[in-house]
Amino acid sequence: MAKVTLASDWLDVCSGCHMSLLDIDEKIVELAQHVQILSTPITDLKHPPESGVDIGILTGAVSNDHQEHVAKEMRQRCKILIAIGDCAVTGGICTMRNFFDVNKVLERAYVEAESVEPGSAVPRSPEIAKLFPQVRAVDQVVKVDVYIPGCPPPAKAIWFAITELLAGRTPVLTDDLLTYD
Ligand code: SF4
Repeated sequence: MAKVTLASDWLDVCSGCHMSLLDIDEKIVELAQHVQILSTPITDLKHPPESGVDIGILTGAVSNDHQEHVAKEMRQRCKILIAIGDCAVTGGICTMRNFFDVNKVLERAYVEAESVEPGSAVPRSPEIAKLFPQVRAVDQVVKVDVYIPGCPPPAKAIWFAITELLAGRTPVLTDDLLTYD
């Protein structure tokens, strides 16, 4: 039987959710028997193939135009989209900046922060992704099929969701799977 194909990517994140995915530990061997991982941000192949994948995973919020493109591309190229982690599900900690003007946020980071050299300026190269005025959750940009909240969600919740999908069922996460450190 052909393996289920999977691609993942991250948006505005700390990468903790992808680390939680890796925390399934030895189960990754079992996963590899059923799933072919075609792209992730932590492997050489970083974009889902144009031919598409069965399962797409996004972690992180949508904070800039590059991340919006990544989210839309993943949505176009996957049959089932999973949002993993609070940043993806609600915007999470990234939305703390939504209370401030985006230019003040940039100035705080690039000009005023204690760690920057005096005289530093906000980088304005057109090659740099454009920060949106507001951070959005993934489902405010594209349709999401499965939500796994948590910061990060425990590996057992991610494992449960993936194995339920492999079994042809829609994962319904119960309280015991949504425990937090
Ligand atoms: S939900 Fe938490 S662990 Fe996941 S990317 Fe956001 S801040 Fe990091």
